[in-house]
Amino acid sequence: MAEETHLREYDEDTRSEVRETYRKNHTQQTLTLAREKAASFGKLDRARLTIWEALLELDRVIDESDPDTELSQLQHALQTAESLRVAGAPPWLQLVGLIHDAGKMLCIFGEEQWAVVGDTYPLGCAFSDTIVFHELFAENPDKNQAAYSTETGIYNPGCGLDTVTMAWGHDEYLYQVTRGRLPAEAAFVIRFHSFYPLHQENAYRWMLNAEDEALLPWLARFQKHDLYSKTNQPPDYDALATHYRKLAEDFLPDALAW
Ligand code: FE
Ligand code: FE
Repeated sequence: MAEETHLREYDEDTRSEVRETYRKNHTQQTLTLAREKAASFGKLDRARLTIWEALLELDRVIDESDPDTELSQLQHALQTAESLRVAGAPPWLQLVGLIHDAGKMLCIFGEEQWAVVGDTYPLGCAFSDTIVFHELFAENPDKNQAAYSTETGIYNPGCGLDTVTMAWGHDEYLYQVTRGRLPAEAAFVIRFHSFYPLHQENAYRWMLNAEDEALLPWLARFQKHDLYSKTNQPPDYDALATHYRKLAEDFLPDALAW
C-alpha cells in the first residue's frame, strides 16, 4: 500500500499535466457535451473486444489526471484487483478492481484525456466546491446558466443517481459497455467510482434514493483499493495474468460491444 497521506494532493505542487487536464475538463464538460458523448459512444459501434483484450490495449494508456501513478492502466488494473483479493473481497469486487478503468478505452478510440479521466460530478446543477480544482469552473458555460446554477438545478431531491447526467468519462462508458451483465453492486461501483465529491466529500447526498444509499458503502470500500494500491512497483504480469484472465472470463465470457 502507498503512503496514504500523500495521495490525491491537488495543489500548486501538482504536476502541471494534471492541472492542465482538469482545466480542459472543467471548462468543457457541460450538460450538453455529456449528453452528446453518451449518445455517440452509447451506440457501442467502435469495436468488439473481450474485457481481457481491452485490458491488454490499456497497457498503452497512462492517466494524465492522476498525480499518484505513472504506471499503465493494465498495471493499475492488476494492482487494484490484487489489493482487493488480498483483503478478502468477494470475486465480483475483485473483478470490478480489474476492470473499473477499462472505460479508458475511450483514449484508444482517440478521445482526449480531459473527456475520459479525472473525478466526476453531476451536470445540470451547481458545481460543488468539493470538486478538485473547482475554481476552474469559472470558464464553464454551464456556470452562467441560471437553470443549472442552483444547488438542485434540473433535478429533484431523492431523484436517484440513475437519472443524473454525470460529467462524461470512463465510468459511464464502461457502465454502458457492461450494462445488464454484472450484479447491481458491481455496476454501481463501475459507474460512480470517480464521483469523489460524493463518496469522499459527502456532497450531492440529496440526489440519492434508497437504492443508492444502500449501495454507497461499496464505493467507499472499493475506493481505498483503487487509491492505495498505487505504488510505483509494477505488478508481476506473468504471475498474475492467468488468474485474472480467468476471473474476467468467468464474469464476462463473451466479446463486448465498445
Ligand atoms: Fe477510474
Ligand atoms: Fe482506478
